[in-house]
Amino acid sequence: MARVLVRGAGIVGLAVAEELQRRGHVVLVVDPAPGSGASHAAAGMLAPGSEVWWGEEGLLALTLRSAALWPAYAARLGVPLHRAGTLLVGHDRGDLQDVERQVALLRSLGGTATLLDRAALRRAEPSLGRVAGGALLPDDRAGDPRRVVAALRARVRVEPAATGWDHDVAVVATGARLPPPHAHLVRGVRGEVLRLRTDDPPRHVVRGWVAGEPVYVVPRPREPGAPDPGVEVVVGATSEEHDGPPVVTAGGVARLLEAARVLLPGLDRAELVEATARDRPTSADHLPLVGPAPPADGPVPAVPVVLAAGHFRHGVLLAPLTARLVADHLATGHVEPLLDPRRTDHHARTDPEERHAPPHRQR
Ligand SMILES: Cc1cc2nc3c(=O)[nH]c(=O)nc-3n(C[C@H](O)[C@H](O)[C@H](O)COP(=O)(O)OP(=O)(O)OC[C@H]3O[C@@H](n4cnc5c(N)ncnc54)[C@H](O)[C@@H]3O)c2cc1C
Repeated sequence: MARVLVRGAGIVGLAVAEELQRRGHVVLVVDPAPGSGASHAAAGMLAPGSEVWWGEEGLLALTLRSAALWPAYAARLGVPLHRAGTLLVGHDRGDLQDVERQVALLRSLGGTATLLDRAALRRAEPSLGRVAGGALLPDDRAGDPRRVVAALRARVRVEPAATGWDHDVAVVATGARLPPPHAHLVRGVRGEVLRLRTDDPPRHVVRGWVAGEPVYVVPRPREPGAPDPGVEVVVGATSEEHDGPPVVTAGGVARLLEAARVLLPGLDRAELVEATARDRPTSADHLPLVGPAPPADGPVPAVPVVLAAGHFRHGVLLAPLTARLVADHLATGHVEPLLDPRRTDHHARTDPEERHAPPHRQR
């Protein structure tokens, strides 16, 4: 059994730390601001189906594997999941074509989606505004990442610094800002989200397009016995490559609210509780980096370094799988080929154009 130092107490670092501890390792997590990164903003969709995109079949296999872990994972952590599924909806005819494309892609990869006409949609989700049509993706779920982070934090030791703590292995899970010499492997893509409180939340996660503008509305599960009838819903998300700090912009808030209120007019009466911006951590090819750090210039590290980084728009969904992959790697040396950080050596050093390719989707 090893002494493992985990840098970063976001959902990924904490999930890794907890899994390593369960397997008998001695673990310390170090973070001056635990839980304050992208995991604080995330909507918590566990949605391989509504997120899948052309060319991402390999990633889909991994997101499906992790999605299958979530029900037992959430139950163990005592975190409720939203299980009613996702409604994908299009406001106008053009938006509906986006829905139909997504459904065709998902079905071609073996996923389940049922196209619904307007009447069927209104029966399934009476709070919907005027939409051209849509589809139900029954297998997508959602959970509250802040609750997951709190539950994991309660199970592991988290300190602001690791002064003098001897360790055999270091895991770097510091989100959008990796420390040197790995900093160039990950960059931030800003995402803004809003938190509203309403006593009339949608039953489903509602994702859609309004005149080409993508938006989602994620209701938190109702707490049995909670005195307050209000429910939090998360409205997201913008997506922007930038070099500055992730701030909430007036334009971002306006676009999100406009689109969400078209799909769900009842949100007009909701209380606006919070607007948050954070950087999604992404790699050159938008796939996570999970496994041994690639060789770097400079002094050889004193202990082996394992990365658990670059989870982009899937960090919540993939957290339980990443935790297992890191623990398996320490036990057997196995690395998931698609996620092997050593693949980045070529991208990062020889193809700056590719490093800055824009992400094609948002979450
Ligand atoms: C608006 C938005 C919506 C999203 N929605 C979803 C969603 O619905 N579903 C989904 O699966 N994913 C979603 N994501 C993506 C998801 O949030 C991220 O992929 C995930 O949170 C990454 O987790 P992480 O632990 O790697 O990073 P973070 O949560 O960013 O945590 C990194 C931690 O490292 C710490 N740190 C930084 N530097 C150091 C250092 N030098 N030493 C020690 N600690 C350090 C920070 O303080 C922070 O606590 C969303 C992201 C955004 C921004």
